[in-house]
Amino acid sequence: MGKSTKPLPEVILCYDLGGTKLRAAYISAAGKILAHVTEKVDLKAGFPGLIKLFVELSKRLPKARVKSISVASAGPLHPGKGVLLDPTNFFTLEKSWGVIPLVAHLKKAFKKPVRLENDAAAAVLGEMWKGGHGRKQNIVAMTLGTGVGIGVITNGQLVRAGRGLHTEASHIPINSEDRNYPCGCGAYGCIEAYLAGTHFSKRMGARVGKELTGPEAVELAEDGDLQVRTSFREYGKYLAQAIRSLTVTFAPEVVVLSGGFSHASSLFLPETKKALPHLLERYRDGIDLLPEVKVSKLQNDAGILGAAYLALND
Ligand SMILES: [Zn+2]
Repeated sequence: MGKSTKPLPEVILCYDLGGTKLRAAYISAAGKILAHVTEKVDLKAGFPGLIKLFVELSKRLPKARVKSISVASAGPLHPGKGVLLDPTNFFTLEKSWGVIPLVAHLKKAFKKPVRLENDAAAAVLGEMWKGGHGRKQNIVAMTLGTGVGIGVITNGQLVRAGRGLHTEASHIPINSEDRNYPCGCGAYGCIEAYLAGTHFSKRMGARVGKELTGPEAVELAEDGDLQVRTSFREYGKYLAQAIRSLTVTFAPEVVVLSGGFSHASSLFLPETKKALPHLLERYRDGIDLLPEVKVSKLQNDAGILGAAYLALND
């Protein structure tokens, strides 16, 4: 008997475009990542180089029938218009790339339907679909890494800001009196100004006398360094403040944490869980708004799975 030729699987070609890396993956209709590749973005090559990289990565994946293409990207961007809005990560020779019509260029390169979504929005969709949160339809996903990404689903629907934009909830102030370290957005005391890795390092550096990398800080904390442990506990308290603000606005049943910090959750999450019931005391009668707070099991896959979910549920 000859070899039977299996029909090629039908997949969504999904991308996760971060500040420094581009990841491409084939994802099945059941939400399985069938193959994936990652490559550094060469900023010197500019926008044409980025489009080439999208095409090149697709060629490194095995053969499949690609139904459509879906991109989760760091913002700011406009999903409906398919453009990146002068993204802070992308500049060549100190010149910003400006407004980038990413979807139009990818459609031309691939001759397939293409979607674009904010990575934090994609991450929360990925969590709803594959995060193991049962039938919960009210979810906040917080990515705690170099920056802070926040995506929100209420009543089973992705929450958008007006004008078709993504909500910028990480710039909600939680302590505007603190003028020590301005947020990247120019304001003071934003959620991101406390919970982003870069800001955490600065604050902890001022306390311990030198700036530490994330892994160094975790190691010192695990060795019992009291000042570093205090910095993580303070992080946990600010996280509770942030979740309180998000909870009174969006009433999530679950808040899911991912990103680099979530791996060190034992150093700050107990503090968050201790503080949160007090911060929400007035919101616990009738419908108890206290959300479950947990670490994501999808981690870096949430965004790319969310991109697939969008393509499959259009
Ligand atoms: Zn800000």
